[in-house]
Amino acid sequence: MKILVPVKQAPDPNAIRFDASGAFAASTPRVVNEYDQYAIEEAIRLKEAGKATEVVVMTVGAATARDAIARGLGMGADRGVLVITDDADLTAGDVAAIVSTEARDGGYDLIIVGQETSDGGSGTVGPLIAGLLDLPLVSNVVQLEAGDGTLTLGREVEDGRHIVETTLPAVVCALTGLNEPRSPSLKGIMAARKKPVEEKQVSDYAVSDAHVSWGRLYAEARVVEGTIIETDAESAAKQVVAILREKKLV
Ligand SMILES: Cc1cc2nc3c(=O)[nH]c(=O)nc-3n(C[C@H](O)[C@H](O)[C@H](O)COP(=O)(O)OP(=O)(O)OC[C@H]3O[C@@H](n4cnc5c(N)ncnc54)[C@H](O)[C@@H]3O)c2cc1C
Repeated sequence: MKILVPVKQAPDPNAIRFDASGAFAASTPRVVNEYDQYAIEEAIRLKEAGKATEVVVMTVGAATARDAIARGLGMGADRGVLVITDDADLTAGDVAAIVSTEARDGGYDLIIVGQETSDGGSGTVGPLIAGLLDLPLVSNVVQLEAGDGTLTLGREVEDGRHIVETTLPAVVCALTGLNEPRSPSLKGIMAARKKPVEEKQVSDYAVSDAHVSWGRLYAEARVVEGTIIETDAESAAKQVVAILREKKLV
């Protein structure tokens, strides 16, 4: 089984800074999108279990997105594909068109994407890839078992877990809880330096616009309203009951 893991280098959610225009500031550190780390980990586990023959990590982004590939290789992926673009407004449809071309030409059996990103967060790249390749899509995946040309998958749903089966090839969207992603070891980081990374340009692909338009990104002003009761538990309980009675809620 050949596995393709598309990853996005996204702003570090723990260190977001905005510039004057409301966009993410260039000084915001970039990391591999959280959900994509579950995707990489799951692919590597399938290889370690002898179920996968090759794990390829791919990204579409600025030249600096090579760091995202390096992390995947350090974790244990076999090789990388870096599709370079300077276009910050590349749409989810463009990314999906590029990834699906790579997946089709490379003869991949499984594409594991993250459920969504921490910046764009549309959650549309996976479904678009599945649509373009006419493949089954399983989203919100928190459990994965590989059979002979099939996958049994656990999907997180509102009131529990939904178990589904699919044939391969397929597209799977990884969610928190699927696994515990490893950090690259020193040995892994050293080995990653010798692993091949194929560099391509967006112009090497035919991209199709998904006709999604975005408004300006901005930090929403927070308005917090409420009553803070600062006293001992017994008096606080009495005051809460009095407020509820006053509002005719009890
Ligand atoms: C400031 C800002 C401005 C934007 N402006 C525009 C705009 O003008 N027009 C517009 O159409 N869009 C715009 N976008 C959306 C942006 O292009 C999307 O982030 C991008 O299309 C990917 O979609 P997503 O992040 O919603 O991915 P999702 O669909 O949430 O990602 C799901 C999964 O797909 C994979 N994936 C996503 N992106 C990549 C990638 N680049 N390389 C490899 N794998 C990937 C990962 O596995 C990821 O976990 C803007 C986003 C931001 C933050």
